[in-house]
Amino acid sequence: MMKRVLLLMSIFLLIGSLSQAAIQEPKAYNDPSLIYLTLDDGPNWKTGKLLDVLKKHQVKATFFILGKNIEGNEHLLHRMIAEGHLIALHGMRHDRDEFYETPLTAVRQMQEVQALIYEVTGIHTNMARTIYGSDAGMTPAHWQAMTDAGFEIWDWNVGSLDHVYKKDNARVEQRVFDRLEANRAAQVASIILAHDHSMTPKALDTIIRYAKERDYEFRTLEGVQPVHNFSDVWEPHMD
Ligand SMILES: [Zn+2]
Repeated sequence: MMKRVLLLMSIFLLIGSLSQAAIQEPKAYNDPSLIYLTLDDGPNWKTGKLLDVLKKHQVKATFFILGKNIEGNEHLLHRMIAEGHLIALHGMRHDRDEFYETPLTAVRQMQEVQALIYEVTGIHTNMARTIYGSDAGMTPAHWQAMTDAGFEIWDWNVGSLDHVYKKDNARVEQRVFDRLEANRAAQVASIILAHDHSMTPKALDTIIRYAKERDYEFRTLEGVQPVHNFSDVWEPHMD
């Protein structure tokens, strides 16, 4: 009798652990329910408010950091890390001509912000997004130089246009909703591009609530392969 009870118990435990395994099974990098939220150009005085919204919803994001904005905002980098966000590289300054002038100028800016982030946080990362996205000035020689220097270049497939619509929350929100739905229809994951200086806490809050109500899941880009950029696309670039 005891043996039968033990047998039944172990069967239940086995079923329990199997269903647990099914729940935790990793999704493919481009699963259409995944959203990779990325925030560029920070940190700045608005970043803290966005971090508050992310914390409230337990959403983790990827921050592409601009080197010139680090000094005086070191605490924000520490906060991002403490709250589970991912830090990545976005160059030193936001000057298109200066950045893309030669393959070497682009590589040097990335190496400079990489070294600064390491100095402040102890984190070494090769994950990068070039100024204005890779189609703004990456020639084949730039790609070669960046690859040789070990950088992984990421772009996006949901441009929120927050830097264009600014405080017009409704337009930013609608733009993101439309792109999310288009990606879901195309059966691909979404990488949202937003900016620390332009995305309002209110629009961010609305976008996260919209996504969660529709069973999207937010993740950082940590460990995601293959890399998505405009030259090596998961899907057609629509922006
Ligand atoms: Zn930028």
